[in-house]
Amino acid sequence: MLRNDQLDQWDRDNFFHPSTHLAQHARGESPSRVIKTASGVFIEDRDGNKLLDAFAGLYCVNVGYGRQEIAEAIAEQARELAYYHSYVGHGTEASITLAKMILDRAPDHMSKVYFGLGGSDANETNVKLVWYYNNILGRPQKKKIISRWRGYHGSGLVTGSLTGLELFHKKFDLPIEQVIHTTAPYYYRREDLNQTEAEFVAQCAADLENLIAREGADTIGAFIGEPMLGTGGIVPPPAGYWEAIQDVLNKHDILLIADEVVTGFGRLGTMFGSEHYGIKPDIITIAKGLTSAYAPLSGSIVSDKVWSVLEQGTDENGPIGHGWTYSAHPIGAAAGVANLKLLDDLSLVSNAGTVGAYLNATMREALADHQNVGDVRGDGMICAVEFVRDKDSRVFFDATDKIGPQISAKLLEQDKIIARAMPQGDILGFAPPFCLTKSEADQVVAGTVRAVKAVLG
Ligand code: PLP
Repeated sequence: MLRNDQLDQWDRDNFFHPSTHLAQHARGESPSRVIKTASGVFIEDRDGNKLLDAFAGLYCVNVGYGRQEIAEAIAEQARELAYYHSYVGHGTEASITLAKMILDRAPDHMSKVYFGLGGSDANETNVKLVWYYNNILGRPQKKKIISRWRGYHGSGLVTGSLTGLELFHKKFDLPIEQVIHTTAPYYYRREDLNQTEAEFVAQCAADLENLIAREGADTIGAFIGEPMLGTGGIVPPPAGYWEAIQDVLNKHDILLIADEVVTGFGRLGTMFGSEHYGIKPDIITIAKGLTSAYAPLSGSIVSDKVWSVLEQGTDENGPIGHGWTYSAHPIGAAAGVANLKLLDDLSLVSNAGTVGAYLNATMREALADHQNVGDVRGDGMICAVEFVRDKDSRVFFDATDKIGPQISAKLLEQDKIIARAMPQGDILGFAPPFCLTKSEADQVVAGTVRAVKAVLG
């Protein structure tokens, strides 16, 4: 058996980790952890440390770890048929069943699911579908995609461009020119602190109108947004935001892509964020919660309106020139079927709503009055605490102080709880598995209070 120090060396010598300070890692200056096993909301590393994972991996292990029902479904699928492709009309019992289960849960006006592997490739598909759609409709100019600053939609060429976070653009020559960004619906960080929520929403809609006017509506194909900003800071939309944005999009015949990679399948206590916030999307992106990350699988759910144009396109041009070898991979699909069944059987979506509300309320009660806590916010089973140097002016700490990472490191060290220091700003994020209990939520809140005290007093 390998010793830990051997594995550690192999890791530093061979493994190119995503989203990592590569030089520090290679030099052995940053911590590494080898995860060995997991159950419920706990993961265990190779040194025997048991950690409460209050971020569900990367907000994806929604049903919790160690679910044997999903492991069995994967094993059975692998034994019976590990792979067959889904090109030219092929399918498997698992992929066809899963497509039906998704559509049964999706908003009524949705029509079909295209399967990919992860959130980034699904959004890549979505952008291609928008371009195809407008070409078929004879509008070859209508191609630009509007995204929001602080949105997160992946880290490919197009999707990294859609992502509105500097880290994902810097030194990669992104964003590409077909992608443009508009105002983030981040009321706490509005420029004019005297603005009411309604005034701020009106400004977001006006900013969008102005951007469309500047570029020309005939050049804009789609708008993409997460129902609630996720990686950009875990920010629920201000009241009335989606209604105001959709009014603008409808006026200019611009498609709406709801990126539900985080919110899809229950994180907000409802099956989709779209139903939660009154969004009527033309395309929905799904990934993480579709299989609870037991196997890689994503999807693009397209509406009747988009589907009918895609059909027209293939009647006019032949088969659609889009597909991955692993589209609708049977093992991912089998995991998805078992996962969605488990969500229902254990009422996990409603648990996400009730325990999530409890987590949000207790976190707010415990921390809102702290001198360096500017905002405690969330919805369903997702929550964030934003730290500021000065509560009135809302100024950030210096980025070099790394307050967010310091607090998450302290939380891990003192209470063995994992929360995520979000990549932009001093924001600590929580998105536990849906099976979290109230007493585990209490543990998370108490540990966070201790970590905040240890770092900020
Ligand atoms: N869209 C959203 C809203 C996400 O949060 C993520 C990942 O966190 C993605 C897309 C990209 O998904 P993936 O990392 O699976 O490519």
